[in-house]
Amino acid sequence: SSMSGMRKEEASRTAFEEAKHYLPGGVNSPVRAFKSVGLTPIYVDHAKGSQIYDIDGNSFIDYVCSWGPLIMGHAHPEVIAAIQETASKGTSFGAPTLIETEMAKLVCERVPSIDVVRMVNSGTEATMSAIRLARGFTGRGKIVKFEGSYHGHADSLLIKAGSGVATLGLPDSPGVPESVATNTITVPYNDLESVKMAFERFGEEIACVIVEPIAGNMGVVPPLPGFLQGLRDITTRYGSLLIFDEVMTGFRVNIHSAQGLFGVTPDLTCLGKVIGGGLPVGAYGGKREIMEQVAPSGPIYQAGTLSGNPLAMVAGYTTLKLLTPAVYDQLEERAARLAAGFEKNAKELGIPMTLNRVGSMVCPFFTEGPVVNYDTAKASDLQRFIKYFANLVEEGVSVAPSQFEGMFVSAAHSIRDIDATIEANYNALKKL
Ligand code: PMP
Repeated sequence: SSMSGMRKEEASRTAFEEAKHYLPGGVNSPVRAFKSVGLTPIYVDHAKGSQIYDIDGNSFIDYVCSWGPLIMGHAHPEVIAAIQETASKGTSFGAPTLIETEMAKLVCERVPSIDVVRMVNSGTEATMSAIRLARGFTGRGKIVKFEGSYHGHADSLLIKAGSGVATLGLPDSPGVPESVATNTITVPYNDLESVKMAFERFGEEIACVIVEPIAGNMGVVPPLPGFLQGLRDITTRYGSLLIFDEVMTGFRVNIHSAQGLFGVTPDLTCLGKVIGGGLPVGAYGGKREIMEQVAPSGPIYQAGTLSGNPLAMVAGYTTLKLLTPAVYDQLEERAARLAAGFEKNAKELGIPMTLNRVGSMVCPFFTEGPVVNYDTAKASDLQRFIKYFANLVEEGVSVAPSQFEGMFVSAAHSIRDIDATIEANYNALKKL
């Protein structure tokens, strides 16, 4: 539904002004405010399949997909029906239910590293808890993370982070105590030499390395061949734990997640997004001997009033059951078509672009590339991205308002959607 310069935004603008009286910056999560692109945020009224519909009556082909969770598309009928049926029996009990075990069993069966899993309510909780577990299990204090990676907003992980903090240019947040920050070692993504140096210096003090097996918060940056295996080898040698933060990649790139795709098995894995089917969920899991250190089987404390919430569990379970190998094949085919179209457009128009893609995670960077880490991602022409984003919105396509976020293709994106998006991309590039 190409709108070409026709976006109506009066209702969204009024709604945003009202929201700013009561919410910091008008929003409950920073990047939604469209501050970095200087536009009025899109106030969503409803969404269905690949489309979102705003309160001004505009529609957009959506590649934000709630920042990753909606791999089956918006308001999938089976997911909605499962939520409705479950809700009619009550929304939360704070007591065990059968669906929690069903869900955990499915996650354990599909994710190679996970023998035992604990459900939480967000990706932030998952990584925060996994870090505590790694520290408790090893008795060590330091952690290693990668520049431009985002693992949620826990103190120890909010150091040189990607995603919204990169978008807003706030790499080190006020409020993170110096005493916490000194225990976080940051190194460039895809740079095994720097990891080795960190271990040579601090090896006996390092509890874990936490890594996005495909970096998705500095745009999309795949691991170079050998990078993940190198991390596996180094952490094993020093008795540190390897944590894969698969909050974004889990069940997104493969039925066995990124660890299945690359054949490298971490000690602990963090999940979120897709496993909640659009409701608030996170999870962390791993080897039995480590996970059994978590309370009540062990002494490391972590809890949650709403953890294992029945609505969230059934939404996630239904989504995972819909994710057959045929769905992943379709996602691959459609995302490849989208990426090829974007590359052809840029070439035809003589615009320098690097297209990174793994499965249904797609990112066009405005740079000659290659983009292999945060520094090379930052070499993108960010002013050009801002104009491109504004043009795309006018063309009726919704992507994240940041060069440091990828696009998510869903199972609801039809070939027609993909081809319409390629045309919108052409027009948006042409008007730069
Ligand atoms: N880890 C990764 C890799 C993420 O992409 C995100 C969110 N984008 C998080 C953790 C944090 O998850 P949440 O926003 O659910 O707290």
